[in-house]
Amino acid sequence: MKILFKGHDFKYETEAVVKLFIPGRFEFLYDEINSDGDIVSSQLKKGREFTYLFAYCRVGEKTARKAFKLNNYKADKNTCEHEICRLIFICLNRITGITPPWGLLTGIRPVKKMTELIEKGCDKKECFDKLKNKYMTLNSRLELSYSTAVNQLPLLEGMSDDTISLYISIPFCPARCSYCSFVSHSLESAKKLIPDYIECLCREIEILGKIIRKLNLKIDTIYFGGGTPTSIDADQLERLMKTVAENIDASGVREYNVEAGRADTITYDKLRVIRENGAGRISVNPQTFNDNVLRIIGRQHTAQDTINAYKAARELGFDNINMDLIAGLPGDTFESFMHTLEKTIELAPESITVHTLTIKRSAKLYEENINKFINNPASEMVNKAIEILPQKGWQPYYLYRQKNTLENLENIGFAKKGKESLYNIFIMDETQTIFGAGCAASTKLIDKNGKITRIHNYKFPYEYINKFDQLMKKKQLIYEILGE
Ligand code: SF4
Repeated sequence: MKILFKGHDFKYETEAVVKLFIPGRFEFLYDEINSDGDIVSSQLKKGREFTYLFAYCRVGEKTARKAFKLNNYKADKNTCEHEICRLIFICLNRITGITPPWGLLTGIRPVKKMTELIEKGCDKKECFDKLKNKYMTLNSRLELSYSTAVNQLPLLEGMSDDTISLYISIPFCPARCSYCSFVSHSLESAKKLIPDYIECLCREIEILGKIIRKLNLKIDTIYFGGGTPTSIDADQLERLMKTVAENIDASGVREYNVEAGRADTITYDKLRVIRENGAGRISVNPQTFNDNVLRIIGRQHTAQDTINAYKAARELGFDNINMDLIAGLPGDTFESFMHTLEKTIELAPESITVHTLTIKRSAKLYEENINKFINNPASEMVNKAIEILPQKGWQPYYLYRQKNTLENLENIGFAKKGKESLYNIFIMDETQTIFGAGCAASTKLIDKNGKITRIHNYKFPYEYINKFDQLMKKKQLIYEILGE
């Protein structure tokens, strides 16, 4: 597929819109040479009074064209860019018959736009009209983002400037899932590094503890994520959690999470360590309750192992458990996803997060033919989850999108009232400072004016260990940004 630009160079946005309809790679042209075959062409022409915008698309035998004219005083760069994308969107919708649910909303945080409108005083109808006209978003997604915004607004209120969250990264997993694009290292390849990694991580927690005390900050939420935090030994986990307890005043902590994650790493001992050291919320993630699909995605556990881990957590008294599911996994069917959903509802965790499969280049799955995921039932799966979960008492409270997600769908966190994860909201809302410790973690500093500065830790454990002192020097920036 070729993408041709005339009179403008809105490459990034144009490509994002074409990708909503046509997967694969594109050739970009800035003149008409070689414009045969499948093409998306757009043009911007400035006249004396008006700016004229055109789109022409040809896919196989099918063609569509559309034009629009703007008064020059309205034709700033952003408006022209948006209108050209809208024309292309309409043409490709006609040709392919595909209706992307989020329309032209290609960013990762659609709820943010809805929240802004609500905060400006728009009622539900005004919010819907504004977003529908501008972005051609479907009603189902407007409803979803509206309920999500309404559910999370009270949780964001009353947050004070001196509260922060702490993220601790354990970047190891027993084996790599076929769809994984995270910086996660299999235990087999990284085993030797783990003791040194834990040492450095404890030192980083101590250093962050000092900064927190000096700046008089208060910890609001703590999150152990990964990777899979329970892939390390119970003793190692205990050492880390005790280091947190000794260095961080957790008296004001409203939420302490450990993303236990995979059933093949969860033992009674580790759950006990988590419970005894103050974490109240854990994740036990089935992804699917279909053993065949688990095998295809490279998970070394069965659905029954997940159920056993979940029951063990309940026996130990955990009363806030999240379960992650993924729609669109290879080998999964609509019926099998429904079985997974029903089984999860029957287990009744406090929150259920429905992800849609994302296939990034760094994932093993990407090497396979990604076109085979076209006509995958992910959309029906997600739509059914959006319909059923609120009826059963789980309301949407956070939502985000990623690039390269099947059918440009979304990831949605649903929770029972009062069990919403604050950390998940903060990470999306970007209004709270988050200190990140460990490899691949990033520290997000939000100053008094709302400006965001990021400090990225090294991606790989050996870099994190070997360049630890160098990295800690970078953390002194925290004093400059938050100490003013
Ligand atoms: S459990 Fe998560 S982080 Fe670990 S390999 Fe699988 S997808 Fe990656």
